[in-house]
Amino acid sequence: MMVHPDDMPKCRREVDLVIRADIPDPDREPQLHELVTRVNLHHLCHERKRRGQEVFCMVDDKHCKSKFPKSFSDKTIITRRQVLYKRPENGVVFMNLKSGEVFTNQQVVPYNPFLSLEMQTNTNVEICSQEAQSAKHVNLYIN
Ligand SMILES: [Zn+2]
Repeated sequence: MMVHPDDMPKCRREVDLVIRADIPDPDREPQLHELVTRVNLHHLCHERKRRGQEVFCMVDDKHCKSKFPKSFSDKTIITRRQVLYKRPENGVVFMNLKSGEVFTNQQVVPYNPFLSLEMQTNTNVEICSQEAQSAKHVNLYIN
């Protein structure tokens, strides 16, 4: 899915309105919390690699090709090359009871809350551009 250039988020406030990369509060947004924690968390690839498990996102023994875990950030940062989404270090964690893995906002795949809830599936919504400040389109990947 692409968004017309005229409708592109042009500042970090507008990006924050359409793209999130945080674990939703289970009390305030229970449906979104359940969905994001079920389908929008990147596995703990570095930890799995250390345990000797096969990890398909690793380009070598040290680097995740999707660059997870992402850095915490109190605000969205737009640079010429990329958009770093707001990922507050707010103590919110999600523990996968089956695997025992503990996730933070560093493992959240960016999503649009409306599309996620509407489609009830994994969505990856990100600004894609060489020049993020004049972003040309938003790509939406639907599994
Ligand atoms: Zn990875």
